[in-house]
Amino acid sequence: MLDLTYDTPKPKIIAGATGDWELVIGMEIHAQVSSQAKLFSGASTRFGAEPNANVAFVDAAMPGMLPVINEYCVAQAVRTGLGLKAEINLTSAFDRKNYFYPDLPQGYQISQLYHPIVGEGEVLVEMGEGLARLVRIERIHLEQDAGKSIHDMDPHMSFVDLNRTGVALMEIVSRPDIRGPEEAAAYVSKLRQILRYLGTCDGNMQNGNLRADVNVSVCRTGDYERYQESQDFGHLGTRCEIKNMNSMRFIQAAIDYEAKRQIAILEDGGAVVQETRLYDPDKGETRSMRSKEEAHDYRYFPCPDLLPLEIEQAWVDDIAGSLPELPDAKKARFMGDFGLTDYDASVLTADVDNAAYFEAVAEGRDGKLAANWVINELFGRLKKEDHTITESPVSAAQLGGIVDLITKGDISGKIAKDLFEIVYTEGGEPAEIVEARGMKQVTDTGAIEAAVDEVIAANPAQVEKAKQNPKLAGWFVGQVMKATGGKANPKAVNEIVAAKLGL
Ligand code: ADP
Ligand code: MG
Repeated sequence: MLDLTYDTPKPKIIAGATGDWELVIGMEIHAQVSSQAKLFSGASTRFGAEPNANVAFVDAAMPGMLPVINEYCVAQAVRTGLGLKAEINLTSAFDRKNYFYPDLPQGYQISQLYHPIVGEGEVLVEMGEGLARLVRIERIHLEQDAGKSIHDMDPHMSFVDLNRTGVALMEIVSRPDIRGPEEAAAYVSKLRQILRYLGTCDGNMQNGNLRADVNVSVCRTGDYERYQESQDFGHLGTRCEIKNMNSMRFIQAAIDYEAKRQIAILEDGGAVVQETRLYDPDKGETRSMRSKEEAHDYRYFPCPDLLPLEIEQAWVDDIAGSLPELPDAKKARFMGDFGLTDYDASVLTADVDNAAYFEAVAEGRDGKLAANWVINELFGRLKKEDHTITESPVSAAQLGGIVDLITKGDISGKIAKDLFEIVYTEGGEPAEIVEARGMKQVTDTGAIEAAVDEVIAANPAQVEKAKQNPKLAGWFVGQVMKATGGKANPKAVNEIVAAKLGL
């Protein structure tokens, strides 16, 4: 198991003219549920379809249409809750959140305010070696996504695309337990990692499948501890909410900017106004979008079209029994089973697809060697070309084949890199390539001896120098490697050179 004796990281402190300030951050993450169909209709959720191609009558709010709950989306929310060690509410209910938006044809969003499906949970956020923070989850509720208004296609008109209308979202609400920009980014990546492991959200931030509303406030030293003891929000500063962030980098920049903005107001004797703000990445600033609305502004009421959602414990238990291995457990197992360092295990388990690939390579082989090849050669190469592991031209079986050839001593590490390059660019079965192209390592000492003799005979002056200065033996090794096209076993060459020079 993972060693859980972590030290809690310190909050980010910003020195002001009137004393120190601490940051307090709470996040609401909207994660699109991985599901083929929408939350209350059978319409497809496929990304990139023709505008308005995936719209059922109920999504378009045609009169008389009734929502029908998608059981799979409910199961996905339950699975997510279980993955976050959260309490699952066997009874939950849907409410209408009323507001007008051109891409919300119903005039309300079906959400869960009073009785969410998932209650309190937690996320362990590692902040580098030996440091971790536990971020408490307050709740997860299921709700519908809205559509998309398009303003830049025509100078006189706006368009509406309802493909996303009604797609299931999980809103994952954290407690204000995040204490700095780096922690905020680490929290989002940890959550994204867990969701991807669970298969409940693909976490594609560019497509908007995972977006964060970031609540930021500042307080004086000691106030946060007072809040923690009492859970009384009165000890915390007034927060601003930065809406719809979908980049880790921007999340950090926005928090930094926002904290400094609030501190400047407070030090000037002013008061922070609770409001919703937007981050402008070009200017690196947040600006006011609207004053913060309260729950009562939305006139929430139980959705009369849907019965309360009752689920059975046995069904929840079934889902619990089918949960995949989660990141922390996988990382601990990789460290234990394959003898990997904390760092390597983190890199390999960061993404569920990477972890599966590595396991396929490491299975039945030297885990450390496999890790080296996956991290240093393959990941390095994929990154250069901006490819993900699922786009890798080298399969796990092929990379495993290369590792086998190294382990057997058939090829040297240097030749293995050439071989990797060939497999990467041309494909093919590594052992066959080595055979066909004569890349096998020469371990036959007779052949190596002959090559050493030749180099010695051709360079009498160097031989004299090397006898005075044994460090020059390396030059002979280099020459022999060159003469054998890098195929000679380097260890054997070293030994034979030393013996022949009498060193
Ligand atoms: P709403 O839905 O109106 O935005 P919530 O009560 O659901 O309000 O809280 C939203 C988020 O704001 C939560 O993640 C919560 O932890 C966070 N939050 C609440 N108070 C503060 C505060 N003073 N500073 C930072 N974050 C806060
Ligand atoms: Mg909010």
